[in-house]
Formats: sequence, structure tokens, C-alpha cells
Amino acid sequence: MNKSLLALATLAALAASTTANAADINLINLDPAGVGLNDTTPAAPVGGNPGTTRGEQARVVYRFAMDMWGGVLESSVDINVYASFAPLTCTSSSGTLASAGANELWLLNDGVKTRIYGAPLAESLVGEDLSDPSDPGDISSRFNGDLGKPGCLDGLSWYFGVDGNTPAGQVNFLNTVMHEVGHGLGVQGFLNKSTGALLAGYSDAYTQFAYDNVLGKGFEDMTNAERATAMKTPGRTVWVGSHVTQEAALALGKRLSLHPSAPVAIAGKDYEIGFAAFGTLASPTSFTNHAMVLIDDGNGTATDGCSALGASTGPNDTIAYVNAAAVAGKIAIIDRGTCSFEYKSKIAQDNGAIAVVIVNNAAGVIDMGVAASRTTVSIPTVMVSQADGAEIKANIASSAAGVVLSNLVAGADGAGHVRLYSPSTVAAGSTFSHFDTTLNPDALMEPFDSPTVEANFDADLTPALFNDIGWNLNPGNGKFANCDTGVDAVSAGGLVLGANSQAYNDVCLEGAANRSKYQACMTSYKNDMVSSHIITSTQGSKIATCIKRQVDQYGH
Ligand SMILES: [Zn+2]
Repeated sequence: MNKSLLALATLAALAASTTANAADINLINLDPAGVGLNDTTPAAPVGGNPGTTRGEQARVVYRFAMDMWGGVLESSVDINVYASFAPLTCTSSSGTLASAGANELWLLNDGVKTRIYGAPLAESLVGEDLSDPSDPGDISSRFNGDLGKPGCLDGLSWYFGVDGNTPAGQVNFLNTVMHEVGHGLGVQGFLNKSTGALLAGYSDAYTQFAYDNVLGKGFEDMTNAERATAMKTPGRTVWVGSHVTQEAALALGKRLSLHPSAPVAIAGKDYEIGFAAFGTLASPTSFTNHAMVLIDDGNGTATDGCSALGASTGPNDTIAYVNAAAVAGKIAIIDRGTCSFEYKSKIAQDNGAIAVVIVNNAAGVIDMGVAASRTTVSIPTVMVSQADGAEIKANIASSAAGVVLSNLVAGADGAGHVRLYSPSTVAAGSTFSHFDTTLNPDALMEPFDSPTVEANFDADLTPALFNDIGWNLNPGNGKFANCDTGVDAVSAGGLVLGANSQAYNDVCLEGAANRSKYQACMTSYKNDMVSSHIITSTQGSKIATCIKRQVDQYGH
């Protein structure tokens, strides 16, 4: 965020804009002649990008990204994006890749509460252009145009293709532009990431959906200190907006959870687990229908499975549990601490346990590594969080709980709420305003570029997040030449194939020297989409009709 003018005036209560249009997103090129978006260094066309200079290729990608979000969102007000691809701070080993955010902030009242909104969403919600004509940008975005040149993050370079086929060692510029403009469109919490203080005392469109799983409170009901702690505790802060939650299972894969079938107090719950790099990988088969038993290592209330050994925690030590007979053939529950995870599991194995659940001594769960000297564990081990472990321990005492491992959404908590990025060391530009890195597959709005993200086809949870914060999504199909492609502009789970067809049509129109070249460009695109089964042959036929319509309008 370059500029954070917080308008003092509170706008009228939100009113849904009545005219439904795809949003028009315009690029305002701020680069001087010869550099960045105007760089005349020759470049060979790549990955569907017909540009022949570095600057032109960057402009094509920008345009494509604007078309993509314009196809996904609805707004009756144009969105103007300040764009610069001029050099940013950079050395061989470190540098800034990109930064972006809303260019102006507005206070809006939804009838109940006043919150901060970035300019694009504020304008869409009130249905008018709020910007000062002398400063028309709604979003500011800057990218490092020196990336790939000697002396700037050597070894990395931008990929300017628009086909998602990022080669190894390159950073997909289209993904990066869509990510950064995504911040400008609203994936941006304005609170202070270190202190938890709200900007000017107001919550915002994004922060209203953040929730702390440990305190069981929304961010708007927390103190500054509570927010600060939640934002730097991995696994604790989640997004509770209904659209993201609903679509998470479509956009994300599955992961295993601990799912007790008894006793009643915890039956049917899903507890998030971490995995071990030693022993057999935990699977539904290895846990099915065995009971959990808290171990007693003979050291009073300590149940860390090694404390009775004192200092003697060598790799070949053994310890007989006081309740070894009860543990045999069951799943041993052991607290984290004092000796290594692998050591605890070996002791449990020696006592006849068939699997181990380690209870963390902190919030969240981690995956457990191999201890230096121990390689003899064969039983599976998982970890649950401190809070979940306390709940399990409090409820298994009187009953033998049958346990299975069941499926949870990868990157979400047991309630299906997707995690927000909250590393233990606060990174002002990354903390909170991104999805967590535990999402699988990787999402566009995670803090680090991933080669598996292909935002040209799949914007995963970002459209749902936009929907949660108040944007209307385009309910119709992708269109060009005033013609319906039959392909949803955006569909549940975040596929953006219809938006892609519109964006690609603009690329072909811009890059082709004449109408037969335009026709060849779009026909090749359509054929590729059909042959790779991204769209159906019926949709391919409709796109062919639209290509014909566009050719008829071409005029020469
Ligand atoms: Zn980001």
C-alpha cells in the first residue's frame, strides 16, 4: 500500500449496486519512457504472449490479469490500477518482488458497523467513482522489472507466458500480478500486524472475517494484544466467511484428522494432526477402531513418556509403563517434552502400543522429525494440539474411545475454516493478509509464489474471499464479441475458465497483425482447451461461434 488516505467522511450505508456488469479494470502505466512497462529490450514471444519487447510482454500480462479479475467481478464503476514495472530495490541475494494495495481507503457503514474498505470495493458497493480526478488510481501496484537481470536476485526471472506453464527457476508474472492486484481488491487487513492495533480504530472488510480458534473470538471482539498474539501463532487464525468455507473442500485437497468414535463427549470430532517422519506413516488402517490410553510412566502427573528416565535418555534405554498392560494393543497418548518424539514412540512401542498420539505443548500441530540416534520405531505417530489433547485426555479416562483417522480439508481447521498466514515471526507484508502455507494444493493468495498455481485457469479460493468481503461475482459466462462462450466466467471452487477466454481473446486481438492471424490465435487456444479437456467440445463449439463473430467485427 503506497498511500493510505483514510477518508474522514463516512459514506452512506451500503447499498447493493443495481447495474450488474463485469468490472472494467484499467491499467494506468506510470513508468517513464524506456523502462519497466516501456522497456524496449527485445524479447521472444513466449507462452501465448505475443509481445516482442520486455515492456510489451509485461503490459500484455498486466492486461491479461486485469481482464481476468474484470471477468470474475461485477462492478458498475471502473477500477483503475496504477502500474509500474520499473526497478525496485534489489541486490544479487535479496530484493522486493512486488507490492500492491488499495490506493485509497474509505469508511463505509453496513447499517450496523463502520469499517474500512479499499477504494475498488468501496466504489463498487456505493456505485460511484469516489477518487479525486487528479489521483484516479484505485489500486497501486509495483513489480520489480530488474528481476532476471544481473545483480537482481540472480537465478530468478519472470515468466511472461499466459498459459500457466512456468518453467523451473522462473516466477510466473501473471500469477504475481493477479496476486498483488488481489490485495488491492481486498485481500488486505489494515490492522498493525505487530501490535494488533486497528487502523484509526476501525476494523475493515477483510479483518471482520478473521477468527481466533484458541480464544474462540472474532478479531473484532479481541483486544490489540489478543490479535497480536493470534497473528504470530501458527495455526490459530482462520477465515470464517461462508463462501470460502463452503468452497474450501472444492478448491483444496483432503488431509487426515483424528476422529474418535467414542466416548460421546468427543465422538465425531475432527482433531487436526501433524505427522511423523519416523515409523509407519499414519493411515486410517493403522488407527481404525483402537482405543486411546494415556500412558503412565511412573512419574506422577508427568506423562511425557520419558521423564522417569531423568538425564538418562539414551537411544537404547527402555522404560516399563506402570499401565503397560492397558497400553498394549492400544493407541498411547503421550505429552510432548523432555525427550525426542521418536524416543517416546519407541518406548510406547516397547510397551506394546500399536500407535502414538503426542499432545503438543503449544498451540497448533507440527510435523515431527527424526531424532539423530533412533531408527527402530515401526508404529505410526501423530500429534494433536495442546488444547485438543487436553480435551481428549479429559474424556478418555472413563471410556475406551475407538479412533479412526478421517478426512479434513487441507489447510482448514476441524470446523472447515481455512487458515490465514500467521508465522511466529511477524512479516509485516505477509502476516495475516494471506492464506496459510498449509493449504494444499497451494493457493494464489499464499505469501509465496508456487509453481503449481495456474491463476489463468484457477483462482482457487480468491473469488470466494472476494464474495465474502462484499464483491458480487459475475454469475454469467465468459463473453467476447458480444457472444456467450458457454463457459462460466467463474465457477464454484474458483475455476475462472470463462474469464480466461475473454482475457485470451484480448491477447489474440492485440497481438495479431490481421484477422486471419487473430482467427488462428484463438482457434489454437480453443483447440488446446478442448483437447486437454479443460472445456467440453460443446463449449468449444460455442467459442468457435464467438471467434467467427469477432472475425466478422474485425473489419479488415
Ligand atoms: Zn501477497
